[in-house]
Amino acid sequence: MRKPFVAGNWKMHGSKASIKDLMTGLNAKSGLIGDVTVAICPPAVYLDYTHKCLAGDGIFVGAQNMCQVPGQGAYTGELSASMLKDCGCQYVILGHSERRAIYGETDALIAEKVSVALDSGLTPILCVGETLEEREANQVESVIGRQLDAVLNKVGIDKFSAIVIAYEPVWAIGTGKTASSAQAQEVHAFIRGKLAGLNPAVAEKVIIQYGGSVKPDNAKELFGQPDIDGGLIGGASLNADDFMAICQAA
Ligand code: 13P
Repeated sequence: MRKPFVAGNWKMHGSKASIKDLMTGLNAKSGLIGDVTVAICPPAVYLDYTHKCLAGDGIFVGAQNMCQVPGQGAYTGELSASMLKDCGCQYVILGHSERRAIYGETDALIAEKVSVALDSGLTPILCVGETLEEREANQVESVIGRQLDAVLNKVGIDKFSAIVIAYEPVWAIGTGKTASSAQAQEVHAFIRGKLAGLNPAVAEKVIIQYGGSVKPDNAKELFGQPDIDGGLIGGASLNADDFMAICQAA
């Protein structure tokens, strides 16, 4: 049995004051979470602050991006895996579609980042997903297959038991348009099936989250699908009640 995993991606939102409020809300309800892994991913400058605001140990902290170079060095503006760990991170979101589309991150770069995160003991949350154009051109499986292959070729299938995959159809992110549970399940089954072709035991273990306009009122149906093991939540993770309701639905 896979333990469901719900993570909140706060993206570029928040301030110390708003995070303090949000954390008060999350801390107050963290006892209600049940058998679900929960993580929150604040903007990097607030990682340490967010980590310090946590009460108890029911919630983990993750980053939203990371440098592909391990250790330290002359990489102005970048943050290394060891720095993220030092600030309390256990997870790091990699290959989010906003990083791919806005900052030009390639499959190869993302694969390097996944490899470095694994070597450093961070759990990567590897995002994959197709645009609306690609879906309409029947390219869902080829696009996601390509995104996965880049990482598979770099780190190998056995490492995938230490990777979380997030299927985030780009057309469903921040649009209020959720993939139907059947549409999402179809892609999740494709991802697990692809991994199963390489190593069935790893495929059975790997957590595959769904992300894209998950809200309290659609979470239960999505998370009820056999290959959907929780979610990566954007907008709704900025509200403590909504995020906790989504965690409880997992
Ligand atoms: P929304 O939940 O706001 O659609 O964002 C999803 C997402 O991109 C999470 O990484």
